[in-house]
Amino acid sequence: MNGNIRVGSIFGIPFYLNVSWFFVLFLVTLTYGGELALFPGLTGISPWVLGFVAALLLFASVLAHELGHSLVAISQGIKVNSITLFLFGGLAMLEKESKTPLEAFLVAIAGPAVSLLLFVLFVAIGVAVALPAPLAAIVSLLASLNLILALFNLIPGLPLDGGNILKAAVWQFTGNPNKGIVFASRVVRPLAGWPLGLAFSLFWASVPSAVFGRC
Ligand SMILES: [Zn+2]
Repeated sequence: MNGNIRVGSIFGIPFYLNVSWFFVLFLVTLTYGGELALFPGLTGISPWVLGFVAALLLFASVLAHELGHSLVAISQGIKVNSITLFLFGGLAMLEKESKTPLEAFLVAIAGPAVSLLLFVLFVAIGVAVALPAPLAAIVSLLASLNLILALFNLIPGLPLDGGNILKAAVWQFTGNPNKGIVFASRVVRPLAGWPLGLAFSLFWASVPSAVFGRC
C-alpha cells in the first residue's frame, strides 16, 4: 500500500503505519479531547493528553486484533510479512494460506476472539474499579470499540474475518478450498462498498455513546 511507514517490528513482524493513521490519530485526539474537556476538573492540556492516550489505546486495540491473527498463523508455520495500521483498521499480510480448513478457521477467528476478550476485560474493569469519570469514559470507549471490532469483522463476507470463517466452513464441507473463496465473495458482493462506510459510522457513533457511558 502506498504511504506506509515502517516503524519497527512486533514479534519479529515488520510493523507499518499508513500516513492516513496520523490523520485519524489527530482527529480522534481532537474529538475525545473536546469531549473530555467537558468534565469538570480537567483543565489546561490534560483533556487533550488524555484524548491522545485514548486514541493510542484505540489503535493498540486494532493492533491486538491483527496480532491475534498473526500469532495463530505463525504457530501454523505461516510467515507474517507485515502488519499495517491504516485509516480505520489494520491488516496482517500472511505469506500463504493455512493447510487445513480448521487451521484457516483458527487464523480467522483469532482476531475477533482477541477483540471480544478485550471487550470483556474493559467491561470488567469498568464494573469492578471505581475510576474517576474521565478514565471511566475512556474504558467504556475502549470496550465499545473492541465489541464493534469483533462484531463488524464477523460479517460473513470477504475480505472480513467472517468471510474467511465462511470460506473455511465451505472448504470443510466440500473439500475444496476454492469453492469457499467463490462462495464467500458472492456473499460479500452486495455488501461491497459499504464496509468502510459502516466502519466509519460505527466508529464515530461509538464516540459520544462511550463518552457518556452508554456502552
Ligand atoms: Zn480480523
